[in-house]
Amino acid sequence: MLTVDHLSKSFGGIHAVQDVGFHIPAGSVYSVIGPNGAGKTTLFNLISGLYTPTAGSVKFEGAEITGIPPHSLARMGISRTFQNLQVCKNLSAIENVMVGAHSRLNSGMFAGMFRFPGIVRSDRACKERAVDLMTQVGCKAYIDAHASAMPYGALKKLEVARALASEPRLLFLDEPAAGLNHTETHDMALLVGELVRLGITVVVVEHDMKLVMNISHRILVLNYGQKLAEGTPEEIRKNPDVIAAYLGGD
Ligand code: ATP
Repeated sequence: MLTVDHLSKSFGGIHAVQDVGFHIPAGSVYSVIGPNGAGKTTLFNLISGLYTPTAGSVKFEGAEITGIPPHSLARMGISRTFQNLQVCKNLSAIENVMVGAHSRLNSGMFAGMFRFPGIVRSDRACKERAVDLMTQVGCKAYIDAHASAMPYGALKKLEVARALASEPRLLFLDEPAAGLNHTETHDMALLVGELVRLGITVVVVEHDMKLVMNISHRILVLNYGQKLAEGTPEEIRKNPDVIAAYLGGD
């Protein structure tokens, strides 16, 4: 589904990502791990269109998407969440999700259906879609809430609902468990499993090693901007280079 070849990004003299390549099969959970400063965020920003690479290419379903901005990627079926939540605090919870649903329903396959009688019909469809998504991610209880009044764990779910509103086939989750307690992390793991069952391919950057080992089909380990290892959770757990560089014998 996603093929990354010889990807590099430098900031001045800092080689944040160096010659990294990997392939993400459709219908899988693919996680990126590594110590602080290993280049995970930079890699994520490169493959989700926020950064233009210094070298290398990114292909989505065979099509070159290198350097294509996030809003265009969203139309192609790629969406993401952010480590620092991008939820709009002066909107209600459902309005946050509707923003994504609105842009989807008024473009592409739904555009003709909602042309008449116009915005009213479109808003109703968006609202129904947003309610479905909030139910799906497990924050239905906050449908009438103002985003600023929601607890952090619910906001993390809301962020996923908003990313799902553009109906992605490929979803990037940036540290989905950061700041969550044990129960919320467990819920997030279940949600990721559910998304995969629905046919969405999920890419995760995450520090919570237990979660990563639990949800991933394959794991990429970065160290000093380079690919240190790649494999199944079992292979990564046993890899001596990974143990030395990152897991510290865990
Ligand atoms: P963490 O786990 O701490 O979030 P990371 O693995 O996500 O780290 P990056 O944030 O990608 O790592 O950083 C990789 C390297 O690139 C670091 O040395 C960082 O200081 C540097 N870097 C990242 N972004 C920039 C930038 N915009 N300008 C300059 N240097 C940057």
